[in-house]
Amino acid sequence: MVKLEIEKLRNYINGEWKEVARTTAVVNPATGEELVQVPLSSKEHVEEAVSAAKKAQKEWALVPAPMRAEFLYRVGYLMKEKKEYLAQLLTSENGKVIEEARGEVQEGIDMAYYMAGEGRRLFGQTTPAELKDKFAMSQRVPVGVVGIITPWNFPIAIATWKSFPAIIAGNAVVWKPATETPIMAFELAKILEEAGLPKGVVNVVFGSGNEVGNALVHDENVQVISFTGSNDTGRGIAAACGRQLKKVSLEMGGKNAVIVMDDADIDLAVEGILWSAFGTSGQRCTACSRVIVHEAVKSTLEAHLLARMEQLTIGNGLDESIKVGPIINKEGLQKIKEYVSIGKEEGARLLAGGMVLTEGDQRSGNYFAPTLFTDVSSTMRIAQEEIFGPVVSLIPVKSFEEAIEVNNSVSFGLSSSIFTNDVNQVFRAQRDLDTGIVYVNAGTTGAEIHLPFGGTKGTGNGHRDSGIQALDVFTEWKAIYVDYSGKLQRAQIDVE
Ligand code: NAD
Repeated sequence: MVKLEIEKLRNYINGEWKEVARTTAVVNPATGEELVQVPLSSKEHVEEAVSAAKKAQKEWALVPAPMRAEFLYRVGYLMKEKKEYLAQLLTSENGKVIEEARGEVQEGIDMAYYMAGEGRRLFGQTTPAELKDKFAMSQRVPVGVVGIITPWNFPIAIATWKSFPAIIAGNAVVWKPATETPIMAFELAKILEEAGLPKGVVNVVFGSGNEVGNALVHDENVQVISFTGSNDTGRGIAAACGRQLKKVSLEMGGKNAVIVMDDADIDLAVEGILWSAFGTSGQRCTACSRVIVHEAVKSTLEAHLLARMEQLTIGNGLDESIKVGPIINKEGLQKIKEYVSIGKEEGARLLAGGMVLTEGDQRSGNYFAPTLFTDVSSTMRIAQEEIFGPVVSLIPVKSFEEAIEVNNSVSFGLSSSIFTNDVNQVFRAQRDLDTGIVYVNAGTTGAEIHLPFGGTKGTGNGHRDSGIQALDVFTEWKAIYVDYSGKLQRAQIDVE
């Protein structure tokens, strides 16, 4: 174990660390202990950060992109050096088990190097002009000041998915992290400072969504909002941005499914389900919360899944032997409990779990037993709504066609997976599943940072995080025409 030293958290504005009088506690969900106090900033702090970002952005946009990249290479290197330390802090404030925390920090490192590489690409296009002696091209230009609002479930990865493409493209950032997980944001800001990023290019303002998030969304000097979080919050932000004609990128909830066909490798499917349903205690936007199973293999799958669920160790994720960590807070725990009651009332059959765990070491943290419902119908609320906890619903189907229909019957469209060894079904599934991400013979989680991440329908609004596509959120396209004929040439008119 690395010795963790949690510093007093302060806002990072214009390259300076600024204390805020009002604070609230950050609690370790595994133990119930207070880790540190997080600032509760106000609208004035947001205005100060936005004004610093606006000023810094003008200079930053003039730094050649390959030179901007040098800062990100250093950030990646520093994150790599501190990986274990960051991972342990992440587990302490968020609860996810240490192996997953290491994976999340690695995602941030990968993103730093990937986006640094973009500094030497940021490709535009050249294209023939329709007139003689005329040159035509298009290029990406920064949008200006970017407001970033992030959730607690991936406190460092999501921040890097958004802020690294934003800064490589020449924007400045004001970032509001979730109040549950501010330590990761503080540590990332320290790394950006150590990497020598010019003052004001990235600013971090801690505080509540209603105050700080809302102020950021409504600030007229912020040109883009990039948000990840729940649908309710995202809808409100989209409406506010719409009224201001402000660009907004939303990544929201999911109701992801694993399909297990009658020819599937059942043990492999079980491992995929376990990893994607109970990893991060089911608190991932891509978590598997539905298993759509062909009736021919339903009872075998149930038996194998139950046997493996019994082996899951639940507790403080800093212990390497633990497989399932705590739920983020008491409200999360309560919501999961309510959905279990709803499932029972709807007539689903509870096969395992279904309760809050309060024995021994689990007494002081927020633990919920990995839960399995079977004989769930696709119209039940537990099969339609995001629960955000370790609860899986088995939905039996009679055919491939029915499996696809059930998968697509929800209002979300983030991730889906199919286990089959039939190559024809594989290709039909990747075509017909209506989610932004499709896995074959793997669970619903496991995104790699160089591919677009995001969903269709109620999961998003058409934008993508990570991948090259993230640059579309943080850039405008500029078309440039250079006429070297020495005379007036009129498009569409003076063509021969
Ligand atoms: P949340 O919507 O409660 O909060 C997300 C962020 O928005 C927080 O920083 C919060 O403080 C802020 N916020 C809250 N109200 C606001 C307001 N009125 N104005 C501006 N900002 C406001 O979500 P959460 O509970 O932190 O995260 C869980 C949700 O995030 C789940 O629904 C999950 O599916 C989703 N999520 C989606 C993705 C994805 O990429 N699709 C990834 C991770 C999490």
